[in-house]
Amino acid sequence: MQDQLTGIEAQAVAELRAMTDVRSLEEWRVAYLGRSGRLTQVLRGLGSLPIEERRTVGAQANEVKRRLEALLEEKEAALRQTELARELEQGRIDVTLPGRPVPLGRLHPITQVVREICGTFQQLGFQVVEGPEVELDYYNFEALNIPPEHPAREMWDTFWIDTGEGERNVLLRTHTSPMQIRVMEQTRPPVRVVVPGRCYRYEATDATHESIFYQIEGLAVDRAMTMADLKGVLAEFARRMFGQNRRVRFRCDYFPFVEPGVEVSIDCFGCNGMGCNICRDAGWIEIMGAGMVHPKVLERVNYDPVEYTGFAFGMGPERVAMLRYGIDDIRLFYANDIRFLRQF
Ligand SMILES: [Zn+2]
Repeated sequence: MQDQLTGIEAQAVAELRAMTDVRSLEEWRVAYLGRSGRLTQVLRGLGSLPIEERRTVGAQANEVKRRLEALLEEKEAALRQTELARELEQGRIDVTLPGRPVPLGRLHPITQVVREICGTFQQLGFQVVEGPEVELDYYNFEALNIPPEHPAREMWDTFWIDTGEGERNVLLRTHTSPMQIRVMEQTRPPVRVVVPGRCYRYEATDATHESIFYQIEGLAVDRAMTMADLKGVLAEFARRMFGQNRRVRFRCDYFPFVEPGVEVSIDCFGCNGMGCNICRDAGWIEIMGAGMVHPKVLERVNYDPVEYTGFAFGMGPERVAMLRYGIDDIRLFYANDIRFLRQF
């Protein structure tokens, strides 16, 4: 019986050594150490032996069992190590692979157009300045030659801010023109600035009106500036922005802070003036309002209107973007629909 045990142990050890994967270890354990395994069967047969022999063989059998269990544990640990090493080897990170692309954001179409317009004026010698969106009545209206009760105030439906003092004095600016006054208060001529920024009007929104929108204001003041300077600068701007062959048209218009005032149009880039749905068959597209700075505005900031003259202009980047990209509803810009914005 002792020989039998030695034989079983030798065979078990040999089989175990030959094993290469963790899963077959369990089969081995069942075959030798399990309830009906070979070693267990030997132990069961101990009962038929004489008492002396039973002790010796029993002790030996238990020794064999302990050794086999210890070997099994060792082998299992070793195999797990090998498997881990193999997995690491196979799943190794290749640092030379290109990374996964991170989705990049992009500029909002209005921001793109604002930057392009401002950039074009910068090339023409203008400086870009910004001003407050919460403004005083004085800068938004009064200093721009729009006193209280002036009918021109009707042109701008205004968001007033309740300051608790009863009087209407603080508002969300209805245009970026107040910066004309703020800039001239701070500097002496020559002045050449463009002012991009958000404006607010209390109006019902539709395809061409938003209550929040952008405006770019421009101002140039110097000695002996004339309407020719206005026309030269704005025509040059229109051509750089909309194409070198654009024809530019100036027609009379009214804005309280200029005299004379003009609307500036270009011949339609969709049809070259023949008429299409971009220009609504007019052949012309209005791109901005402009005019020579009103002498009363210059007096407000202590510029002598005899010595200094200038011109101002204002335009809506949303309108420019709508024309350029063929967008028919201004509200799309601010609906925050990523499917729309991804196109630009
Ligand atoms: Zn057209």
